[in-house]
Amino acid sequence: MASELETEVQAIDQNLLECSAEETAGKWLQATDLTREVYQHLAYYVPKIYCRGPNPSPQKEDMLAQHLLLGPMEWYLCGEDPAFGFPKLEQANKPSHLCGRVFKVGEPTYSCRDCAVDPTCVLCMECFLGSIHRDHRYRMTTSGGGGFCDCGDTEAWKEGPYCQKHELNTSEIEEEEDPLVHLSEDVIARTYNIFAIMFRYAVEILTWEKESELPADLEMVEKSDTYYCMLFNDEVHTYEQVIYTLQKAVNCSQKEAIGFATTVDRDGRRSVRYGDFQYCEQAKSVIVRNTSRQTKPLKVQVMHSSIVAHQNFGLKLLSWLGSIIGYSDGLRRILCQVGLQEGPDGENSSLVDRLMLSDSKLWKGARSVYHQLFMSSLLMDLKYKKLFAVRFAKNYERLQSDYVTDDHDREFSIADLSVQIFTVPSLARMLITEENLMTIIIKTFMDHLRHRDAQGRFQFERYTALQAFKFRRVQSLILDLKYVLISKPTEWSDELRQKFLEGFDAFLELLKCMQGMDPIVRQVGQHIEMEPEWEAAFTLQMKLTHVISMMQDWCALDEKVLIEAYKKCLAVLMQCHGGFTDGEQPITLSICGHSVETIRYCVSQEKVSIHLPVSRLLAGLHVLLSKSEVAYKFPELLPLSELSPPMLIEHPLRCLVLCAQVHAGMWRRNGFSLVNQIYYYHNVKCRREMFDKDIVMLQTGASMMDPNHFLMIMLSRFELYQIFSTPDYGKRFSSETTHKDVIQQNNTLIEEMLYLIIMLLGERFSPGIAQVNAADEIKREIIHQLSIKPMAHSELVKSLPEDENKETGMESVIEAVAHFRKPGLTGRGMYELKPECAKEFNLYFYHYSRAEQSKAEEAQRKLKRQNREDTALPPPVLPPFCPLFASLVNILQSDVMLCIMGTILQWAVGHNGYAWSESMLQRVLHLIGMALQEEKQHLENAVEEHDVTFTFTQKISKPGETPNNSASILAMLETLQNAPYLEVHKDMIRWILKTFNAIKKIRESSSTSPVAEAEGTIMEESSRDKDKAERKRKAEIARLRREKIMAQMSEMQRHFIDENKELFQQTLELDASTSAVLDNSPMVSDMALTALGPAQTQVPEQRQFVTCILCQEEQEVKVESKAMVLAAFVQRSTVLSKNRSKFIQDPEKYDPLFTHPDLSCGTHTGSCGHIMHAHCWQRYFDSVQAKEQRRQQRLRLHTSYDVENGEFLCPLCECLSNTVIPLLLPPRNIFNSRLNFSEQPNLTQWIRIISQQVQALKLLRKEEGTSNTASSENSENMDELQLPEGFRPDFHPKNPYSESIKEMLTTFGTATYKVGLKVHPNEDDPRVPIMCWGSCAYTIQSIERILSDEDKPLFGPLPCRLDDCLRSLTRFAAAHWTVVSLSVVQGHFCKLFASLVPNNSHEDLPCILDIDMFHLLVGLVLAFPALQCQDFSGISLATGDLHIFHLVTMAHIVQILLTSCTEENGMDQENSTTEEELAVLALYKTLHQYTGSALKGMPSGWHLWRRVRAGIMPFLKCSALFFHYLNGVPSPPDIQVSGTSHFEHLCSYLSLPNNLISLFQENNEIMNLLIESWCHNNEVKRYLQGERYAISYPRESNKLIDLPEDYSSLINQASNFSCPKSGGDKSRAPTLCLVCGTLLCSQSYCCQTELEGDDVGACTAHTYSCGSGAGIFLRVRECQVLFLAGKTKGCFYSPPYLDDYGETDQGLRRGNPLHLCKERFKKIQKLWHQHSITEQIGHAQEANQTLVGIDWQHL
Ligand SMILES: [Zn+2]
Ligand SMILES: [Zn+2]
Ligand SMILES: [Zn+2]
Ligand SMILES: [Zn+2]
Ligand SMILES: [Zn+2]
Ligand SMILES: [Zn+2]
Ligand SMILES: [Zn+2]
Repeated sequence: MASELETEVQAIDQNLLECSAEETAGKWLQATDLTREVYQHLAYYVPKIYCRGPNPSPQKEDMLAQHLLLGPMEWYLCGEDPAFGFPKLEQANKPSHLCGRVFKVGEPTYSCRDCAVDPTCVLCMECFLGSIHRDHRYRMTTSGGGGFCDCGDTEAWKEGPYCQKHELNTSEIEEEEDPLVHLSEDVIARTYNIFAIMFRYAVEILTWEKESELPADLEMVEKSDTYYCMLFNDEVHTYEQVIYTLQKAVNCSQKEAIGFATTVDRDGRRSVRYGDFQYCEQAKSVIVRNTSRQTKPLKVQVMHSSIVAHQNFGLKLLSWLGSIIGYSDGLRRILCQVGLQEGPDGENSSLVDRLMLSDSKLWKGARSVYHQLFMSSLLMDLKYKKLFAVRFAKNYERLQSDYVTDDHDREFSIADLSVQIFTVPSLARMLITEENLMTIIIKTFMDHLRHRDAQGRFQFERYTALQAFKFRRVQSLILDLKYVLISKPTEWSDELRQKFLEGFDAFLELLKCMQGMDPIVRQVGQHIEMEPEWEAAFTLQMKLTHVISMMQDWCALDEKVLIEAYKKCLAVLMQCHGGFTDGEQPITLSICGHSVETIRYCVSQEKVSIHLPVSRLLAGLHVLLSKSEVAYKFPELLPLSELSPPMLIEHPLRCLVLCAQVHAGMWRRNGFSLVNQIYYYHNVKCRREMFDKDIVMLQTGASMMDPNHFLMIMLSRFELYQIFSTPDYGKRFSSETTHKDVIQQNNTLIEEMLYLIIMLLGERFSPGIAQVNAADEIKREIIHQLSIKPMAHSELVKSLPEDENKETGMESVIEAVAHFRKPGLTGRGMYELKPECAKEFNLYFYHYSRAEQSKAEEAQRKLKRQNREDTALPPPVLPPFCPLFASLVNILQSDVMLCIMGTILQWAVGHNGYAWSESMLQRVLHLIGMALQEEKQHLENAVEEHDVTFTFTQKISKPGETPNNSASILAMLETLQNAPYLEVHKDMIRWILKTFNAIKKIRESSSTSPVAEAEGTIMEESSRDKDKAERKRKAEIARLRREKIMAQMSEMQRHFIDENKELFQQTLELDASTSAVLDNSPMVSDMALTALGPAQTQVPEQRQFVTCILCQEEQEVKVESKAMVLAAFVQRSTVLSKNRSKFIQDPEKYDPLFTHPDLSCGTHTGSCGHIMHAHCWQRYFDSVQAKEQRRQQRLRLHTSYDVENGEFLCPLCECLSNTVIPLLLPPRNIFNSRLNFSEQPNLTQWIRIISQQVQALKLLRKEEGTSNTASSENSENMDELQLPEGFRPDFHPKNPYSESIKEMLTTFGTATYKVGLKVHPNEDDPRVPIMCWGSCAYTIQSIERILSDEDKPLFGPLPCRLDDCLRSLTRFAAAHWTVVSLSVVQGHFCKLFASLVPNNSHEDLPCILDIDMFHLLVGLVLAFPALQCQDFSGISLATGDLHIFHLVTMAHIVQILLTSCTEENGMDQENSTTEEELAVLALYKTLHQYTGSALKGMPSGWHLWRRVRAGIMPFLKCSALFFHYLNGVPSPPDIQVSGTSHFEHLCSYLSLPNNLISLFQENNEIMNLLIESWCHNNEVKRYLQGERYAISYPRESNKLIDLPEDYSSLINQASNFSCPKSGGDKSRAPTLCLVCGTLLCSQSYCCQTELEGDDVGACTAHTYSCGSGAGIFLRVRECQVLFLAGKTKGCFYSPPYLDDYGETDQGLRRGNPLHLCKERFKKIQKLWHQHSITEQIGHAQEANQTLVGIDWQHL
C-alpha cells in the first residue's frame, strides 16, 4: 500500500518536473487576463505539490514549489532568467541606510543608555560593534524574537545613528529619493502585476474561513476525499494535556504526540490525522471531548487537504515576497504600494488592512510570517511607514479589542507592532495631531474597563476570571500610551497643543475613575472576613506611574499647556470633591487664640481611599508652575485664586493619617490587604506619584494657609486636637483610668504627626519646591541609602526610582558622594559614602522605612563615636524654598507649633506624671533644630537684619502665656539637658543650646537693637561651660571604657569565627596552611632521605593517637585494635581524561587491570579528614538510614544525599561522603621486619627469580584447575614442577589485622568497586583489589596535577584533610590484599608483571604505549606482597619494590622516547656533551634499531634528555608521593619548598641515579631483551608507521574551555545554536558544557533522552558521557553556572562574569555589559580539578532547601 502510494507520488513528480518555468512565464506575458491565468495555474498545481499525505515533506514541497510556482513568477518579474535578473536589480539598487535586521529569539541586542531616544531603540550585535556606542554606557539584553535593529534610524538615536557599515550609504542619499527611479518601466509594471495578484491570493487564502470549500476561482474540478484533522494552539492547555489527549485521540506513540505538540506550540497548528472526512471527524470529536472538561476545548478543524495546500503555499508566498524585495528598494516600494492600495470595498479594504483585521483569527505561524513581511517592507520604507502608521492608528481600537479577547501572547499579535510605530517621535507626533492617538488609546483603554461603582469609579472587586484576564491584557495599552509620550516635543504647534490637551482631558477622565477607588473603612470589633481585592488598583497605579510623570514632563515644556492643564486638573479635582463638606458638620477649632473652621471628619470612622491620582497630578503641576517663569512674572495668569487650600489638603492628609493610624495599630482588624497597600504606597515603584505627591500637596496647601490654621486642621485629622487644645489634658489623659493601649496609640499618633511636620518642612529637594536641581535630588537619595550601609550598585539602583527610560540618574552623581570598593574573589563591589557627605544626613528622611531609619541612626551614631564626635544627629542645613512655598517655614514659629513643642517638653520635664515617649521628644528636638538652622540661614543670607522675620529664638525664650505660666521652651531644654533619663538625647540638646547661642551672637553683632533677652541664660552660661567640660571629660572616660569592651568583644568574635571556619569549612584550598604535616614526622637530620628499597631510611615507629568525633574517645591506631575510619567520598572522574568520547560500556565485563594512559575514567577518593570509630560510624549511619526512610515516606523529597547509595553527611562538617577509609600504620613495616636480609639479587637476577615463581604459580593454577577432573595425572605433573628455591606456594600468612579493621578494609574496597564500576557490590569480585589500587593511583595523580598547575611544591604544607586522605588511601590499598584471596592477587601480579616481562602464558596484554605506568607501578608494588609472602629465599619486600620501580621507570622512559614527536629538530643542534645526553642518545639508537628504523629522525642528545626529564617528572612526583605515604619516610626538606624542578632531589629520594639512563646500562643484559620485546609489539609498529595514535608525555593538564572576554559574544554564539533534534528550532535554554565546550539544548522536551530508565534532559545526559556523572555548565541566557551530579543533584553557582560595578547578573536582568573575571573562572576550574563539584552541591543544597526541589534531571 505504502509503496504504491509512493510510486504514484513519484510519477506525478516526474510529470510536474517537465513543466518549464520560462514557458509558463511566457504564457503569462501574453495573457490578456493575467489574474485568471495565474489563478488557474495555482488551482491546478498547488494541490498537486502540497499536502500529499499525512506527513509534510517540506524539502520536496519547496523544491516543486520553486520549480512550478515561484520560478515562473520570478521569470515573469525579471523578464529573463532570474539568475541574471535579480543580480542586475541588486546592482542597480541604492540600498537604504536602515539595518532592519529582524531579531531571532535569544539574539543579543544593545541599547545605548547615553544616546538611545528610548530603551526600545536597539542595535544588532554587528551594528553595535561598528558603532560609537560600544564605548558608551550601554545595556545588553536578549531579544524575545521580533523587533528589528534600529541602526540608521536618525530618530532613534540622539547621536551616532549609523554604524560603520550603514554609514557608507548615507552620503549618497540625502533627500528622500524615489527608489523606483532605479527600475525600468517594464519591470515596474510587471512587478506591480505579479505582486498585486500574489499578495491578494495569499491574503485571500490565509483569511479563508471555510473548511471544505475553496474560493470559486481556485476550486478544483475533481475533489478527492482527503482531509486533515488540524489541531490549533491555545495558551490554556498545557503541553502534558495536549500530549495525553493526542495519544488517546489519534492513537499515536508518546514520542509522536510530543512531536505534534511541539509543532502546534511553535507553528500554531499541525495536522494530526490525514484521511477521509469521517476518519478525521472522529479524531476531532475525541480531542474536543477530552479537553472540554474544565476549560474551553482545544480548537480542532477538519479541513480539506486542498485548502491546507493553498494556505501552505500562501505562507510560502509571503516569505518569497519578503526575500524578493530584498533585491531592491524599488521592489519593496511597489509591494508597499500594492499592500496599502485601497480595495474595491473602500475603507479598510487594502490587503494590509485585511490581514491586520483578521490577525486574531490566524494561527501563530501565519501571523509571524506576515508580521515579518510587514517589518521588512512597510516599516523599512520611510514613506510607507507613515501611511502604514496611519492605517494602524485608524484601526487601533479594533486591533486592540481583538487582542484583548484573543488568547495568544502579545508577541504574536499585530498589536505588538505599536512599539515599532509609536516610538518613532515624528510618527507619534503626527498620529497625535492628525489621528488624535492619545485620546484614542485612553478611550480604548477605558472602554475595556466598564465595571464601575456608583460614583463612576473603577471597581475591581468581584472580577470574574474573564474580566481579570481582560484586565491583564488591556494593560498593554498603557504601554502604548507610554511609547507615544516617551519622546517629548521640542516644538509645539497649536494643533499639538490642542490634541495634547484633548488627550490630557481623556487622561483626567481616566484618573477621575481612579480617584477614591477601593475606599476602606476601619474595622472595629471583628476581624474582616475576607481580604478585599486591592492588587488590581495598585497594578493600574503602578503601570500608570511613568505615564503620569511623562504627562507632567510634557506640560512642563510649554507654559500655555501647563497653565491649561493645571486649570483642567483643578476643575476635575473640584468635580471629584466639590462637595466635600456636604453632609459633614462644620466645626470650629481654636488654640492659642487662633481659630479656624473645618468639618468634623474622622479617618478612623469614615471611608478613606489611598488612590488620589487627580490630587497628586495637581500637586505635580503646581510644583512645575512654581518652577516656571510665569509664577513670578505674571502670577495673575495662574488660577491660584480659585484654589481652596483646605480642600486641596483634605484628602492627601486623610491618606497620611491613615498610614499613621495603621502604624499605631488602629487598623489591625483590616487584614493584610491594607498592610500591603500602605507598603506599596511608600514603595520605590509607586511613591513618586503617591506618597511623595501627597507631601507636596500638603506643602502646597500649607504654604497658602495661616500656619496655625493648618496645624489645627492637622491636629484634628490626627484626632489629637483635644490633647493639645485642652490645658492639662495630658495629665488627665495619663491617669490610670485610661486604657494603656489608647495611650500607646496616641503617643504613636503624636510621633507620626511630628514626623509629618518634619517632612513638610524638610523635604524640599524637588526642583520647584526649593532652589535645587534634579542632581541634588538624586544625590540626596543616594546619601541616605549609603548612610544605612555601603551598597552594591544593583542594590542602590533598586532603592532608587527609575524613570520611563529605566534610568535612575545615579551614574552622573555617584562619584560626587561615594567611593567605590572593588570586589574580591567572592562578593561584589561596594559604594561607600564619602565622609564629608555625612553632614547632609537627615534622620527623618522621608523615604526611610522604619527599619532603615533605625539602622541608619545606629550607623551614623557609630560613625560619630568612631570619629570621637558627639553623637547628636542635628538636622542638616536645607536649601531655601522657592517663593511659592516660602511661607512654609512659618509653621516652625507659629503659635500652635510652639504650643505643641512646649506641651511635649513640659511632659518630658515632669516625666513621671505624663504619658509621653522619647521618640516624641526626639522629634520635637529635631524640629527645634530645624527652626534654629532656618533662622541661622536667614540671618546669614539677609541683606539687612530687620528683613529677618523669622524669630524663633525670641519666641522660645519667652515663657508661656497665661493661664499656665509655664516655663519657656529654652528653660525647659536647659532643665532637660541634665535629666538622667535622657542620656541619649543630651548631645542633641547641647547642640541646640549651642546653636541658640551662636544665633544670638549673630543677632547681637549685627544689631544694637535689643533682642528680648532671657537673662538667666546668659548668667548661667559660664557655669554651664564649666559643667560641660566636666561632663565631657567623664563622657570621654566612659567612651574609652566602652571602646575597650567593644574591642574585646569583637576580638572574641573573630576568634570564634576563625575556629569555626577551621571546623566547618575546611576547604580544599591547598594554600591553607592549617596544618603542617611535616611537624609530626620524626626528626631526621640532614642525611639523604630514601623512600624505598633496601636503603630506605628507617623511621622510628611512631605512635598515633586519634579522637573519635562521635564519642570523643581517644584511641591509638594499632594493628590489633578496633578500627578507626575517615569519612570518605568516592566518585568516578574524568577530570584527567584525555579522551572524553571513551567511557565504560559494559561494566560487568570491563577489565580494569590495565589503565590506559588517556586516563579516560578514574576513581577518585576524597575525604574531609574527620575520624570516627568504625562502630560509632556504623551506628551513626544506621540511624541516618532509618531517619531517612521515615522522612521519605512522609515527604517524598530528595535530600542532598542519597542514603540508598550509601551516602551520608560527615557528622561534623556535613561534607558529602559515601564510605569510610580505615586508618592504618605503614603496612610494609609489619611484613618487612619479619626477616633480616643481607644479600639481595640485582635486577636481572630478581626478574629471573620472579619469572620462575610466576611460572610455578601458573603451573600450580593449572594443576588445581584439572585436579577435580583427573586426579591420577595430578601427582605426575606435580613432580614435573620444579619449585624455585625457598618458594612455598602452600604457605598462607596469617592476617595481622583485627576483625574490625578487616571488616573496614572490605567495606571501603567494596565501595570503591561499586562506585568505580557502577555495579552492584560484590566483595568477592576479583576486580575489587584492582579498583582499590586504581583509586589510590588516580587520586595521587590528580593531586600531583593540581600541585603542578599551581606551582606548588610537592611536599609543601598540604591541608591536613588531604594529607590524611592520601596517607590512609595508600596504606589501605597496600593492606587490602590481606582480605582478598591470595591467588587472585597473585594472578593480578602475574598479569601485570607479564606486561613488562613477557612470558608465553599471557597474550592479550596491552602494548607499553597503552599502559599508564604509574597505575602499573602501584598495582605491581601493592600486589607484590601476595607473592613475596610465600618466598622464603631471602629476597626482601624492599628489594622487590626497588626493582619494580626501576623496571617501570625504564619502561616509562622507553614509552616517552617512543612517543615524543621528533619534529622540533633543527636550529639548536648543540653538541651532546653531558653523560646523560650521550646515554640517552645511545638508548635512542637502540630503540631505532629494535623498531626496524621505524623510529624516525635522530634528534640531538640534548633534546632527548630534555624531553625525558620533562616527560618523566609527573611520574617521579607521583611515585614520590606514593612511597612517602606507603613507607612513612619524611620528605626531603628541599622538595618542601617551591622552586626549581627538584629533579635531583626526587631521584635521590626515590633511590634513582641522576642519570636515569644509566639504569639501562647497568642492566643492559636483561634490558635489551625487554626493550626488544616491547618494540616488536604490533601496536608499537602501527603507531610508528602513523596508523594509530598514542598519548605523549608529559600529559598536559585539562582546562575548562576558553571563555570570551565579552559575555555578549557568548549570547550571540548561543543564539545561533539550534536544537539538534528538532530541525533548526532555536533552543530555549542553550547551555554550554564548560568542560568540553559542547552546546546543549537544555530544559526542553525535544532533547530529553532516556538514561538508565529515566527521562533526563540534555545536560544530565551529557554529564554521563563527558564527566562520568558530574558536570559544569554555563546557562547562557541566564548567565548562571550550573553544577550537576548524578541525576538528582545540582546547584547554581555564581558565574565568572562581572559588570563594571563588580557584580554578577544572574538571569541577565540588569543588562550591564559583562566581562570575564579570570580569577573567578580559575576558582571554578579549581573546584573541578579538586573533584569538589559534588561537595559544593551538597553544601549548597544543605544551605538552601529550595534547591532540593528543583528538577535537576530535566535540565
Ligand atoms: Zn543592525
Ligand atoms: Zn548598522
Ligand atoms: Zn551612545
Ligand atoms: Zn567513637
Ligand atoms: Zn567531616
Ligand atoms: Zn532540543
Ligand atoms: Zn562536556
